[in-house]
Amino acid sequence: MDLRVHKTFEALFLLEDIREIFRQSTPKGLTKAEKERFSQLITGLKKIIDEMETGKGTPASSKIVGSIDLRTREEECINIHPIQRGGRLTPEARKAVIAYGDGYSTCDFCRKPFRLDKITRPGILDFHEELAQFVGMDQARVVPGARRGFQAAVSAVAEKGDTVIVSALAHYTEFLAAEQADAIVKEVPLSPRNLITSDATAQKIEEVSRETGKLPALIMIDHFDYQYANEHDVLGIAKVAKQYGIPFLYNGAYSVGIRPVNGKEIGADFVVGSGHKSMASVAPSGVLATTNEWAPKVFRTTRMVGDITKRKFGIKEVEMMGCTLMGATLLSMMASFPAVKERTQHWDEELQKTNYFLDQFQRVHGSTVLSEYPRKNTLTKVDTTGSFDTVAKTHKRRGFFFSDELAGRGIVGEFAGATRTWKLNTYGLTWDQIRYLAESFVAIGEKYNIPVTG
Ligand SMILES: *Cc1c(COP(=O)(O)O)cnc(C)c1O
Repeated sequence: MDLRVHKTFEALFLLEDIREIFRQSTPKGLTKAEKERFSQLITGLKKIIDEMETGKGTPASSKIVGSIDLRTREEECINIHPIQRGGRLTPEARKAVIAYGDGYSTCDFCRKPFRLDKITRPGILDFHEELAQFVGMDQARVVPGARRGFQAAVSAVAEKGDTVIVSALAHYTEFLAAEQADAIVKEVPLSPRNLITSDATAQKIEEVSRETGKLPALIMIDHFDYQYANEHDVLGIAKVAKQYGIPFLYNGAYSVGIRPVNGKEIGADFVVGSGHKSMASVAPSGVLATTNEWAPKVFRTTRMVGDITKRKFGIKEVEMMGCTLMGATLLSMMASFPAVKERTQHWDEELQKTNYFLDQFQRVHGSTVLSEYPRKNTLTKVDTTGSFDTVAKTHKRRGFFFSDELAGRGIVGEFAGATRTWKLNTYGLTWDQIRYLAESFVAIGEKYNIPVTG
């Protein structure tokens, strides 16, 4: 453990304790006791800063409170967890979390007509417009996760018993969104290369129409699926959807926020993204964007009237439950947004890094890539049955030997104990980190006498 990382947290926490003094004070200023406590804490802070500088000292308790430990893996390790890379906060987002952590902090300047996406201070209204533009759609709302975007769209377009077409690699939340709307999921089968094609989608539409006498209500396809992160033909599929007059939902959980996405160019009726997966935001966050054509349906406003009070709630949107992301969740998303927009312009380099790493990874004899290759995404499914799993067979720690070796080199996020097929993600790693990662896999191979080529 790096003492300076620990001390950085200690200093941050101490600053929060200092902040608490102000929160407990009156506008008249600090009392004598408060001033004393302030000085005391400042002295403590100086000591910590000293320790950060010299690298000498002992770490304080690693608990924040109760069972809650410090989380230092993003500072101390290289984290290759398949779902965590794109959701790591930017420094701006972390600052927003500090400043806007209080419950309904977004609501300070909420004015008539009282809806989250209409607030102008901070610039939530503008953010919504920029968000829609960012994904090439007309209108956008922030939602608590991509799943809530699916839920809103499915419930707006599907009636009880309707069919929703998804991919045979679809995420479970797409199933659940359909289920909640009392719709039925039908899967488009995979090609031998684990791809969803437009032809297969058209066939499935025909099949469903034949069997149910009705066209599917929605086609919901992942641009990059969560299992292989293969790139599926969303353009072709959107065309097919249009030919049949079926709305198309583009699932950008592994694209919106990490690479350029233009919903209109794709031909999507709905674009869904995940804030905590790919937009450097606090969970649960995400985006649901749509066209002006579909907006009145998916963003319909309440019509309910109280029978006694005759109360009505005007422009509150039903599928959004009025307001969605409040406080630090939304502010983290907004604070990261400039950096997120910028980073999507460097997707090519992200792919270069991934492909470089995987080239090196495959030098260890028996290690292969199960995803399409070269990669078009930074999430990859790999197979080490022929390499590291052969070691696990006779090792007393079994598959955990591999996690131990990685952890010993400061690498975390692989599925602990898994040595056959598993997933990793390199999104946002620097070239230095990528090279370090590659060298580590090769070094583990060499240590266990697995042949290494090149
Ligand atoms: C992660 C993921 C989701 C769920 O995203 P949330 O924002 O956590 O709801 C949906 N679809 C795919 C393809 C995913 O990878």
